[in-house]
Amino acid sequence: MSLKFSKDFIISESNQCVSCGLCLPHCPTYRLLKSEADSPRGRIALMGGVANGRIPLNARFIQHMDRCLTCRSCEAVCPNNVSYGHLIDETRALIEDQSKSAGANKKSRIRILLEKLLLTRPAYLDYLRRLFYFMQTRGFLWWLLKRSNRFEKNKLLKFIAQLPLVRFPYIGIVDTKHSTGSIWKEIYHADGKKRGEVSLFLGCVARITDVATLNSSIYVLNRLGYTVYVPRNQACCGAIHQHSGAIKQAVVLAQQNKSVFGELNTRTIISTSSGCGVQLFESVVSNDQRSPAESDNIGKVYVLSGIADVSRFLVTAEGWEDVEILPLPERILVHDPCSLRNVLGAQASPYELISRIPEAQVVPLMGNDQCCGAAGTYFIDQPEIADRLLNDKISALIEGGAKYLVTSNIGCSMHIAHGLREKKISIEVLHPVTLLARQMGLEL
Ligand code: SF4
Ligand code: SF4
Repeated sequence: MSLKFSKDFIISESNQCVSCGLCLPHCPTYRLLKSEADSPRGRIALMGGVANGRIPLNARFIQHMDRCLTCRSCEAVCPNNVSYGHLIDETRALIEDQSKSAGANKKSRIRILLEKLLLTRPAYLDYLRRLFYFMQTRGFLWWLLKRSNRFEKNKLLKFIAQLPLVRFPYIGIVDTKHSTGSIWKEIYHADGKKRGEVSLFLGCVARITDVATLNSSIYVLNRLGYTVYVPRNQACCGAIHQHSGAIKQAVVLAQQNKSVFGELNTRTIISTSSGCGVQLFESVVSNDQRSPAESDNIGKVYVLSGIADVSRFLVTAEGWEDVEILPLPERILVHDPCSLRNVLGAQASPYELISRIPEAQVVPLMGNDQCCGAAGTYFIDQPEIADRLLNDKISALIEGGAKYLVTSNIGCSMHIAHGLREKKISIEVLHPVTLLARQMGLEL
């Protein structure tokens, strides 16, 4: 995207805003900070002003943009279909461009290394799996690293120190007791009657931190009769690049994924994390196709695009009559990730999926219309606001009084689980498909 494209787009799209203010009560930063400049309406006015040169692109402007969670609650309720997500991404590209020209790239070296190397070649992360595992299970070494100054000073390293215990890829139905492979297999064959073929998107961070969800998805799909393809050269979805202004790199990653998944003969690409699902979806479906922004229509186009959230795919999948699901007489709270609710329109699917577990009492988490504060790398970049939003979720969880919380986005899952651990509250946070797979007999 050229700078001119970004500016022209920002000017024309910000002009769509009629300043009605209907989005304001839905914006988490406006609720917390009570400042117009930290509301969607205020930010849109600032973006338009900077793009047409009326307002300087200075540190104050950047601060208001940085505080936006990109949760897109405003976009979901806007009666004028202002494409807020697209607007903030183009604005961040503008900021990135200006920072580069001024030689003021504020990213740490470790973050640049991660973005450039590991996110573009996520398969390398598989080779680090055993190293991570070794360090995590050798308590002293991990403790030493956590205590070192480097970890305290570098927010990203601090985040790495908080990662859940690394697990290993699933080997397949015949081998559930020996699931210790380091590398993903390229094909996981259906069990019993064949009902279809799908491909699986692994993600970058999730292939290390959320192996339980990926293993569970393969297991449930195989048990229902679906063969799962896992192409080796798939890239990161590009969401981290897209939302930090590196739109060109996000496009390169989207093209790599299109070509890798395009070589397979499957019609559906399963995504297990809704944040990645949005990025994959939006890189194959243009904005025009997505308008008007009514959740029903978004949901339909989402299904037609061939990208499917795993819960959404499973609720309409065949083969349920052939599997046994053990009862779970427990209260299960459901968290709605912003990406699933505000962009994909697929928030009903996790409830439907978990309701397949006999005796489960499925309840929405209070305050589901507000972001948890994870928001990609927001919890690292804006820890104060992220912690306030997290505290609201923890209070809702305490009030909800359940043993389990299910959520469909790995970022939200890690953020909320970390908050619970810090407060020593024992509520298990897991993906809906992981809970289901467990009730279907998968030993994790
Ligand atoms: S709801 Fe839409 S049109 Fe109204 S202020 Fe918000 S962004 Fe502007
Ligand atoms: S994306 Fe979320 S945080 Fe940003 S302006 Fe919209 S509602 Fe507020």
